[in-house]
Amino acid sequence: MRSSMLRAACLLGFSALALPAAAEPDPSPAGWHVVPGSFEPGRGPDGNSVFLDAPGGLILVDTGRHPAHRDRLLGYARTRGRPIAAIVNTHWHLDHSTGNGEIRAAFPEAPLYATSAVEGALAGFLRDGRARAETMLTAGDVPPEREAEVRRFLAVMDAPDALRPTRPVVRSGEVEVAGRRLQLNVAPFAATEADLWIFDPDSGLLVAGDLVVAEVPFMDTACPEGWREALATVAATPFTTLVPGHGEPMDRAAFAAWRSAFDNLLDCAASDRAKDACVAGWRRDAARFIAPGREAMIDEMTGYYLETRLRAAPEERQRHCRHSAS
Ligand SMILES: [Zn+2]
Repeated sequence: MRSSMLRAACLLGFSALALPAAAEPDPSPAGWHVVPGSFEPGRGPDGNSVFLDAPGGLILVDTGRHPAHRDRLLGYARTRGRPIAAIVNTHWHLDHSTGNGEIRAAFPEAPLYATSAVEGALAGFLRDGRARAETMLTAGDVPPEREAEVRRFLAVMDAPDALRPTRPVVRSGEVEVAGRRLQLNVAPFAATEADLWIFDPDSGLLVAGDLVVAEVPFMDTACPEGWREALATVAATPFTTLVPGHGEPMDRAAFAAWRSAFDNLLDCAASDRAKDACVAGWRRDAARFIAPGREAMIDEMTGYYLETRLRAAPEERQRHCRHSAS
């Protein structure tokens, strides 16, 4: 049980992975640039971040979790000699938003575009995560190498305004962000209570957030059926390149393969097939997205999501399929 709790906390709550600072290449001719996230065993992940060039400066989509990721984001802006003029959060999970506070401190003029789903999280999931983290710290249950992550998580919980949008996005539509017109789309009840994904018709770029996670969908706060519908909407969008929340950019064929694997996993979960068969099915269908050597970890996560979400009791399964904030 504790390992499950620690894993959930690892994904969403805590973490301090230091990556070597890589030289950031120039932006693509289409005017966007990915700062890849990371996901090392035993540590919380960073989501991918994406920079888009805009007339007013750089648009930054998602701010990662660890200080090293934050430093790469600030370093990229410095190298480019352009300010971060706007921040977009695809969703409130802390591997995509922990850097908000420090990035916003460095660029206080930058508005934050996000859905208001974080309010429900602050009143529920994150509040509970904080209580667990404090209990574990007090009890000495946090491994020493994780302590910095936990304290970073608690620091975010002490300053939750950094997670709150200054420009709440409530419905899908075109928005001018830092002078660049983008389609900001809201997916209700998907990976979170309301995910935001971005499509730029000029470049064909689609930034999917955790609606697409290459190795395995992170379902901790998922409404699986809403998520499935969101993927159908993404598929109907004429993108050429899709940047997932975690993993390499995808072309249309790669996304179609991933979506098919997702649908198969949900179908298997709804059937009477054995858990191990569903886990094996994901591994088979998503094989191209799983790096060698990580199969056992991905199997464990798939099994965990089957038990805790996809095959939970009906009430629990539907928990994230309705508004949580009053
Ligand atoms: Zn993520």
